Amino acid sequence: TELVEGDSSRKIVEIICRTSWLKSESHCGRIERVLKVHNMQKTLARFEEYREMVKIKASKLPKKHPRCLADGNELLRFYGTTVTCSLGMNASSNLCISEKCSVCRIIRHGFSTKKEMKGGIGVFTTSTSGRAYESIEVYDDNPSVRKALVVCRVIAGRVHKPLDNIQEMSGQSGFDSLAGKVGLYSNIEELYLLNPRALLPCFVVICKS
Ligand SMILES: [Zn+2]
Repeated sequence: TELVEGDSSRKIVEIICRTSWLKSESHCGRIERVLKVHNMQKTLARFEEYREMVKIKASKLPKKHPRCLADGNELLRFYGTTVTCSLGMNASSNLCISEKCSVCRIIRHGFSTKKEMKGGIGVFTTSTSGRAYESIEVYDDNPSVRKALVVCRVIAGRVHKPLDNIQEMSGQSGFDSLAGKVGLYSNIEELYLLNPRALLPCFVVICKS
């Protein structure tokens, strides 16, 4: 896995970020750098395998969900996190090996059940960059810690909404993700992915501190 500074794709990601930032609050000009993630063949294969699993599961249900059957209900989501190394600085695209550096760890090893599960529910993603940015918690007062957004392709599968009796629900199988807050026009602002394999990081947006 390696990262390159995306020239053509940077603009697209910036537009995605900017438009959803504008919708919430004006965090404009927060983008320091956009990096494109080059996923390894193995990672891509794992993601596609997961999609197939979700599709097979969906096909066995009496109530058919067309999006699940078609592509596993793929969505583009934001994941808010932090970066502790110099990634993105001075055109650096080298991943570090620190366990504390969430961005590098996620890109190297994928999302993990233990570390990225919010409240033991699932991996918390948002439909807007603004909400993802707000969700970032910085525990370390190390000044080199920067906030970052990971733009992910996500296999949402069957979404359980609204969020009630989460603890109970996540134990049950059948659903692949849980909706938290549902925004206007019934778009799912907050979504918990129950399986970390459902996420494929595509871009890393490093924010200005
Ligand atoms: Zn790092």
